[in-house]
Amino acid sequence: MQYVIGNWKMHCTVPEAVALAGRIEDGLEDIAKDQPLPTVVLCPPFTALSAVSDVIQHRSISLGAQDVHWADHGPHTGEISPTQLKDLVQYVIIGHSERRESGETNEIVARKLKAVVTAGLIPILCVGEKELTSKAASEVATELKESLAEIEPKTVPDLLIAYEPVWAIGTGDVAESGHIAEVATHLKKTAAKIGISDGQVLYGGSVDRDNVERVVDISELDGLLVGGSSLSDQSFVSIVSAVSRHG
Ligand code: PEP
Repeated sequence: MQYVIGNWKMHCTVPEAVALAGRIEDGLEDIAKDQPLPTVVLCPPFTALSAVSDVIQHRSISLGAQDVHWADHGPHTGEISPTQLKDLVQYVIIGHSERRESGETNEIVARKLKAVVTAGLIPILCVGEKELTSKAASEVATELKESLAEIEPKTVPDLLIAYEPVWAIGTGDVAESGHIAEVATHLKKTAAKIGISDGQVLYGGSVDRDNVERVVDISELDGLLVGGSSLSDQSFVSIVSAVSRHG
């Protein structure tokens, strides 16, 4: 696996975020003495991006934002544009289920994706079925296709697809390995058919330090998106360590 991404959601004041990032950085430096690290991306809230970017010295930590607006600038009170993020982050999460819950459609996600790619940032596109059914793979493939509707796929150099079953997020229920592998394979095939030959698929949904060993064994995956467990440096560093050991 190549990626471990931490989504801090609406947690941490600025001093708390700086302290957490510092502790994670220390932990990663310890791991790096013995093992090569995956790419680690931290996604703090907007309010802490600048301060966290100042404390991250480690070459293997990159920064991501949790959302973005599609417009470059304009009368959009409270929103942040890709251009405004460009100096701070390399990655942007788009279409997280918690945003979709507040009305974000595939059409909006597609506009955001286009804006992010145009700005030269790397999108982390979240897709995931709401309920566990036998149609999950085709449901998420439709989400993927509709989310890519605004762009010419061949122009997307990097795309991280985060497969996050909604029912697994924050519930303690990690999807079965076979289910994750099946959906990841279907997403890669769908991306390839559209013209994205190197779509990377990450899994997200209740990954923690106790279940990570099972998830890292899923060879169809290229990384993990971690929510709750990214808020504890010890848990998050243990997850990175498991990924790193697994290679
Ligand atoms: C997420 O919200 O992206 C996520 C994966 O959360 P958790 O790890 O807490 O399930």
